[in-house]
Amino acid sequence: MLKDIDKEVYNALISEEEKQRSTIGLIPSENIVSKNVLKLMGSVFTNKYAEGYPGKRYYGGCKFIDEIENLANERVCSLFGAEHSNVQPHSGSQANMAAYFSVLKPGDKILAMNILAGGHLTHGLKVNFSGVFYQAVFYSVDKETETIDYDVVRDIALKERPQMIVCGASSYSRIIDFNKFYHIAQEVNAYLLADIAHIAGLVAANLHPSPVHLANFTTSTTHKTLRGPRGGLILCKKEHGNKLDSSIMPGIQGGPLMHIIAAKAVAFKEAMNPSFFDYQRQIIKNCQRLCEEFKNRGYRIISGGTDNHLFSIDLRNKGINGNEYEKLLEDVGIITNKNLIPYDPQPPYITSGLRIGTPLITSRGMKEDDMAIIAGWMDETLKNRKDEKILKDISKKVRRFAREFPIYPSS
Ligand SMILES: *Cc1c(COP(=O)(O)O)cnc(C)c1O
Repeated sequence: MLKDIDKEVYNALISEEEKQRSTIGLIPSENIVSKNVLKLMGSVFTNKYAEGYPGKRYYGGCKFIDEIENLANERVCSLFGAEHSNVQPHSGSQANMAAYFSVLKPGDKILAMNILAGGHLTHGLKVNFSGVFYQAVFYSVDKETETIDYDVVRDIALKERPQMIVCGASSYSRIIDFNKFYHIAQEVNAYLLADIAHIAGLVAANLHPSPVHLANFTTSTTHKTLRGPRGGLILCKKEHGNKLDSSIMPGIQGGPLMHIIAAKAVAFKEAMNPSFFDYQRQIIKNCQRLCEEFKNRGYRIISGGTDNHLFSIDLRNKGINGNEYEKLLEDVGIITNKNLIPYDPQPPYITSGLRIGTPLITSRGMKEDDMAIIAGWMDETLKNRKDEKILKDISKKVRRFAREFPIYPSS
């Protein structure tokens, strides 16, 4: 038993389980996977080396591994209506790296959303490989509307003539018009990469327009709204299939994580079930209600609202910064993350904003009325930030409430 052999790791595991059970998780990129997904991640598939692709492996004994990877590919193509897929990326970042490597040369220019406006570090940040290998230029959001101004994106694209345009974000609460990006990319003869890491579940459920038929490459994580194991995937047009596969292996990875690919296959199957649509719709309903509850309490919401699973609050009129509020909330058992808001005057480790999302709590079964309760506690926490007694009382309520929504009901 782990408990007897490795007490330190065992204790951390038990503490983590306990923490997840007794807190309210509002980080938009986190979720709670199904028991079957969890089981596959801890399965004997982890014992197998399988460098290569189904039918073309560099190792013997891959019969069942091939079945698994073929299943995962068939399912993800059918789920998203894709021509070709690769389910081997170890993460969303590696999915992006492989997509870039498939068609770009070092020094090529990419046009992507600024990280300050909601983009991702793999979209050209100087300290990331994407900013080292490529010349990155950026679009932001409009200062007034805090949404993407597609005319401005087009102007930048016409001026900069990038080889690739990247769309998709880590912190953007509005529908992304992939069609507009497609036409801009066509006009300047650039490749289009759509990174749906955050919204993949919504796209799979047809609750957000899909870029898959428009973009040359669509990349994603599998662990955010899609509710699968921690990992990545890439979808592309058939014409890019061979190049893409070789840019994953041998380009940037060796052996695939077959236990994770097995879990991805299960997650894709789960996402095809009609109940997955209900789940994704509930994520949005919860998010919109939570957002309304904050508005009603005088908080300014970036872009004025949300169409998806997340939103950001501008805390500047509340006399607290993102870092302080995140810590304060964590002390009462509510897990969020500080976040830069568009044109944030604060540095990234302070920030003026808080990013909030509902995929995880929706997986636990929380509904709209629960959102009112949670927003109430979060507001009370801020208002009574100096009152230890009140904070302690909120913490007790939060933990009791969280336990009413078990992570794995039968355990
Ligand atoms: C989360 C995210 C990624 C990267 O995912 P990792 O698995 O953490 O590497 C890439 N792009 C976007 C837009 C993301 O939000």
